[in-house]
Amino acid sequence: MAFKHIIDVDRCKGCGLCVVICPKNVLEISDKVNSKGYFPAYQARPEDCIYCTKCCIMCPDVAITIIEEGKESAA
Ligand code: SF4
Ligand code: SF4
Repeated sequence: MAFKHIIDVDRCKGCGLCVVICPKNVLEISDKVNSKGYFPAYQARPEDCIYCTKCCIMCPDVAITIIEEGKESAA
């Protein structure tokens, strides 16, 4: 089953909690600023993601979503 990991860059405040919690060291903080002036998290090593959802649960700003591919249009 394929999953998609989405970071809403403009919700992210760059707190780094997701970077710390990720057991696979997938995430890093970007050096590009977002529309609110924060440096957002991004997937530096997406191929290592195991879709454990820890980063989604940890994020205080609900900026990370994991969805099953092919279910985007299902409502
Ligand atoms: S889903 Fe798990 S492995 Fe993937 S980036 Fe988030 S914490 Fe890391
Ligand atoms: S936990 Fe959320 S707000 Fe913090 S860096 Fe990660 S995505 Fe951004």
